[in-house]
Amino acid sequence: MKIKTQWELNKLFYPSLKDKHLLKDVEAGERAAETFAKKYSQNKRWLSNAKALVQALKEYEALMFKMSPAPALYATFRKELNAKDKEAEALMNRLDERYTKAGNKLVFFELELGKTAPATQKKILKAPELAGYRYWLTQLFANAKHDLSEPEEKMLSLLGDVSFGRWLQAVENILNTRTVPFGGKKIPLNEAQEKIRSLPTAKRHALNSALMQELKEVAQMAESELNAVVTRKKITDELRGYKEPYEATVKGYENDLKSVLALVQAVTHHFGISQRFYRVKAKLLKQKSLTYADRSAFVGSVKKKISFAKAVRLVRKAFAELDPKYAQIFDRLLANGQVDVYPKAGKRGGAFCSHSVGMPTLVLLNHVDDAHSLLTLAHEMGHAIHSERSKKERPFYQDYSTVTAETASTFFERVAFEALAKTLSSKEQVIALHDRLQDDVSAIFRQIACFNFEVDLHNTIRARGLLPKEALAKLMNKHMASYTGSIMKFVPDDGYVFVSWSHIRRFFYVYSYSYGQLVSRALWERVKKDKKFIKKVDEYLCSGGNATVEQIFARCGLDLHKPDVFLEGLKSIEKDVKELEKLVAKQG
Ligand SMILES: [Zn+2]
Repeated sequence: MKIKTQWELNKLFYPSLKDKHLLKDVEAGERAAETFAKKYSQNKRWLSNAKALVQALKEYEALMFKMSPAPALYATFRKELNAKDKEAEALMNRLDERYTKAGNKLVFFELELGKTAPATQKKILKAPELAGYRYWLTQLFANAKHDLSEPEEKMLSLLGDVSFGRWLQAVENILNTRTVPFGGKKIPLNEAQEKIRSLPTAKRHALNSALMQELKEVAQMAESELNAVVTRKKITDELRGYKEPYEATVKGYENDLKSVLALVQAVTHHFGISQRFYRVKAKLLKQKSLTYADRSAFVGSVKKKISFAKAVRLVRKAFAELDPKYAQIFDRLLANGQVDVYPKAGKRGGAFCSHSVGMPTLVLLNHVDDAHSLLTLAHEMGHAIHSERSKKERPFYQDYSTVTAETASTFFERVAFEALAKTLSSKEQVIALHDRLQDDVSAIFRQIACFNFEVDLHNTIRARGLLPKEALAKLMNKHMASYTGSIMKFVPDDGYVFVSWSHIRRFFYVYSYSYGQLVSRALWERVKKDKKFIKKVDEYLCSGGNATVEQIFARCGLDLHKPDVFLEGLKSIEKDVKELEKLVAKQG
């Protein structure tokens, strides 16, 4: 099989930004919205009659294809590959306005449906002809109390991009064009961030200082940005009647508030486990204490270089052993130019997987030939497999909760890890265990520490009106110290990590990592005991968003209304930390 390492956007979407089909697709979408709006705002029978509602919902669902996201995705992905692509950015902005206007024509539909009388809603939910839409309708009716009036909703969505998106874009644009000196040349920030963990101590600290210096220089802009978008959220939360800053996110992720708070509480109460891990890590690095730059540092002398081709072979085989279907999806994406592999100047950092109804699933990586990059490949391909399996569902349900998303990705990451560990020599066992724990600690404890940071961030800005950059940095340090413990010595500059930590701009998104990681651990344990359990896992992967998170996992036999599954996961990590302590003690 021939692997392609760059996105083939010209083949997957349009040959160029000026392609006439691009504009035609936009116009067709606008017309479809117009037609639907005219038809269903004139005759309102669908608000009281089940048969009429089925017809309306079918047409509403079809709009997901008719109003194709392809033009906007094409522009967005070009920008992801090259921050300097101003032509793409300009098109993104123009399209955003047009799509918002077209979408605004449809706002009435869900709003009016949500406002139907409770007795009508009951009747609708019972109607057998609406069975296929029942979950969607249940969610709509439950969340309708947070809806505003039609003109208010329209205004908020029209102002959304300029009062939120473009603030983020401004900081991202600046970060994407910044570089730091390394090894006699200048490297992009995203490459530096990827590199730090693999460097020996002195070089690691030097590169980290240079990186933090750059972040600090952007902090003035990031301070304005973060305060603005957090205050904007306060305003909309108040208007919509959300009491807690995290409530909208949890409900949006189709999660149960109690279940999420049980998770946050359980993990926060067990920060002792991550602190214990960092004490062993200091021993492994032969340091009396740790700096913040050391938190992801590799220990010992793992010089194992894993080329992308090698990573592909190993991950593919591990996925195939679970189910050949997963390897087929993996192959198809790589052969089709749907994976962009290597870092380059102007390309955004980190990794992600993008999926939309009727669109090709795309994966972006910044592969640097190490084990961590291999696991990232497995993680993002896990998202891709989840996306492709969810295409079995009806369009309304093809999108899924971020929480079930992170469960899928960490599940496949774990599968790849176990396969990778088998290829290591016995000498590398300690390092392998350390590396796995480090990723687990980051996904489970660090993200909950970040969640706690966000709670503080929102509540403080709500109370005081502004948090200056120095205070933001201080608050960040406080929460990062809470899960790492006294072994880690922070300097004030460390806190400027808030400048580039994109997740905190997605408001409370971070809990999904912890939730997903602990649930995927439970699923993996069950697969290890019984290979046939993968069928249950696949059932979940195919369900997209056809039920709440708790309901989807209940089908796999997990009760997430209780903290048991979370505590089970925390205990098993503690066991691993103790194991690492023993191995390190033996080494002397
Ligand atoms: Zn992920």
